[in-house]
Amino acid sequence: MEKQTQTEAESTSGVFADCQLGAGFDEEFFLLNFGTRLLTAFTDREILIDIALETLADFSQGKRIAIMSLDEQNKTLEIDGVFFQRQSSRPQMSFPVEKTVAGKWMSQKTVGVAPLILEGEVPLPAESGRPEDSQCLCLPLIGSSFRPVGLATIEIPAGRCFDFFEAQQLRVLSTALAVSLENTKLFSRVIHDSLTNLYTRRFYEIRVEEEIAKLRRNSGRLSIILFDLDQFKNINDSFGHLTGDEVLRQFAALMLDHVRKGSTLISRYGGEEFILLMPDARVEEALRLAERIVSLCASHEFGDGRRKIQMTVSGGVAFTDHTEAVSQTELFERADQALYEAKHSGRNRVVVWKNISAPYRM
Ligand code: GH3
Ligand code: MG
Ligand code: MG
Repeated sequence: MEKQTQTEAESTSGVFADCQLGAGFDEEFFLLNFGTRLLTAFTDREILIDIALETLADFSQGKRIAIMSLDEQNKTLEIDGVFFQRQSSRPQMSFPVEKTVAGKWMSQKTVGVAPLILEGEVPLPAESGRPEDSQCLCLPLIGSSFRPVGLATIEIPAGRCFDFFEAQQLRVLSTALAVSLENTKLFSRVIHDSLTNLYTRRFYEIRVEEEIAKLRRNSGRLSIILFDLDQFKNINDSFGHLTGDEVLRQFAALMLDHVRKGSTLISRYGGEEFILLMPDARVEEALRLAERIVSLCASHEFGDGRRKIQMTVSGGVAFTDHTEAVSQTELFERADQALYEAKHSGRNRVVVWKNISAPYRM
């Protein structure tokens, strides 16, 4: 972690100009200020975890560091990230809380040192430890309602002591991290649709606006695909709404399985309508993906455990680039017109906006 920029350090020292603190103490405060700012600046959980691991490594000089979160039932600690040899990783591991030393440290809500035991590269507190030349610094992560939300553990050399100020620094950092972790969870709930776990329409609207703004500044292109399930009302009418819900979930999973993560954002636009945002994608690429999903859907066996259900989907593809960078409303309108054409020319197909006068057929 780099130290604060000169400008920020100067403006902060202006605020505290009358304080009679030693130069070293000032510097520690600036670092702490910087660390807490970092830990509260991110809404993406994975980025937050990486930043937090590095920050804790810098402050503690620890060898191995782990950040763990308490599950919904408060029964297990799940690993969010581990830091070892300046690399972070996310092993799929979890540890029980009840009647364990880790659980005891969390309920005590105090920062302290325990004997260490290593589970892979994860440092955990234990009754007695191995290796004996190391110990485990425990930082319970106490959230906004003073309840533990997780635990950070750090492998430190045996006999390493933390003075009062260092311990306070770690306490402040762990509180910032705990509250930030809660906020990332909340943020994730807000931007994801509860039925399908796809992004919400609101999140799509924010992201597409950002991408169009980028097109206006730089060169590039952008495509979207609007999907609408075919005669979905019949599924509800024939099998009930709960089965309809299950089919919506399965269609979402099918799309997620076949889309390159990180490059295409899939959101639930409305009831049985979905929109895919493909920054930088040429129209041909969007058409290819749309056709693939249409044909996968037609051959997929949906179901609710009791019966198999066949279903098709129609799609409209639209695009823009830096030479025009149309508004998001105009872009949506294009995809909607193409979708309309796909529905009216027989469903189970994709139409590209530019081909509306001569419908594209699969
Ligand atoms: P088309 O091929 O023209 O799109 O026909 P359609 O039946 O799919 O279109 P219509 O707009 O008539 O019906 C959409 C249906 O989607 C009606 C609504 O009850 C259903 N729907 C919307 N949201 C949900 C949901 O969250 N769960 C369930 N089960 N059904 C939903
Ligand atoms: Mg519809
Ligand atoms: Mg429909």
